[in-house]
Amino acid sequence: MNRIYLDNASTTFLRNEVIDSMIKIIKKFYGNPSSPHWFGRKSRFIIEKSRKLIANSINAHPSEIIFTSSGTEANNLILRSSIISLKIKRIITSPLEHLSVIKTILDIYKNYKINIEFIKLKKKGEIDIENLEKKLKNNSSTTLVSLMYANNEIGNILDVKNIGFICKKYNSYFHSDTVQYMGHYKINMKKLPFHFASASAHKFYGPVGIGFAFIRNSIKLKSIITGGNQEKNIRAGTENIYGIVGLANALNLANINLNFEKKKIEKLKKYCIFSLKKEIPEVIFNGLCNDNNKSIYTILNIFIPIKNDLIYFYLDLKGISISNGSSCFTSSKISHVIKHISNIKKLNNMTPIRISFSIFNKKKDIDFLILHLKKLIFFLKKNKY
Ligand code: PLP
Repeated sequence: MNRIYLDNASTTFLRNEVIDSMIKIIKKFYGNPSSPHWFGRKSRFIIEKSRKLIANSINAHPSEIIFTSSGTEANNLILRSSIISLKIKRIITSPLEHLSVIKTILDIYKNYKINIEFIKLKKKGEIDIENLEKKLKNNSSTTLVSLMYANNEIGNILDVKNIGFICKKYNSYFHSDTVQYMGHYKINMKKLPFHFASASAHKFYGPVGIGFAFIRNSIKLKSIITGGNQEKNIRAGTENIYGIVGLANALNLANINLNFEKKKIEKLKKYCIFSLKKEIPEVIFNGLCNDNNKSIYTILNIFIPIKNDLIYFYLDLKGISISNGSSCFTSSKISHVIKHISNIKKLNNMTPIRISFSIFNKKKDIDFLILHLKKLIFFLKKNKY
């Protein structure tokens, strides 16, 4: 069966060069990078070389890169550690954050009695910047603002420069979950206003099980995992050398090929929007995803004009892999993001679909998806499902 993969915001295929770089390391025996002998030093050398490559890719200092097992762990590390190490008294966030941020913040609230405030949103899920400024102005307790750079479901891109400017004005820390943005846009940490950022290799054609936290050099965080002294005492546990090599190569290649690959995927997304409007005119675009300047070019999120929770399953039977939103929601549950930005009428009468693109997709994948979506909507409406 011909299989079409359009769920790249969940995870991407690996580049061949990334696989090769990892196999090279796996095939050789390297020691524990904390061991002082020859085998250990060899591992340490490879890890530090990879850290430099990552730092160069985002114009950061190598010491600002702390390896973690995932984007989830990077977000946990930054949020949980900063309330202890920086004595944060309040966290301001948005209801549209990834669950690794929202659930962590709610857990922190339960256990540490830190104040949590959710920013107001505008109609399409945009952050109300004036509301953020009002919150910061009215309360001077030590605050961490946690807002994602690009939303993983509706693709909205945050105006990080403006948010950073306001955070600086009110002496607040700024964490941004950059998991969906990293590897798809140029990142210059010297110019960006983040104190903290998080990344995950499997979102940019690297392996699962490896990510990193960017922690600006001026800030000292403690490990939330107790154990050895690895990663400057910020993340205990023997480093995942294979993952780190894969991550470094994936980010480096993403950067090298960025302009060409961005153009290619942008074209696919535009074609998908055009074809959807033409073939299924009742489709509604969620958030800012059909605004090419305000949304990430890898994500499109639509409501299709029929309510049926089995749509994803039917499409899967035709060989099409798409999702209802974040992959954190197994089955057909509607995500908190879509619920938050949609009215009851839409939720009761329409089904949300996230289509997410990669360098491996082709125009014919979009044609195949839209053909089957159209057929499915026609069939379900006719048979009153
Ligand atoms: N943050 C965002 C915005 C994501 O999209 C994801 C994964 O979907 C994560 C965090 C979690 O990353 P990981 O899968 O590496 O735990």
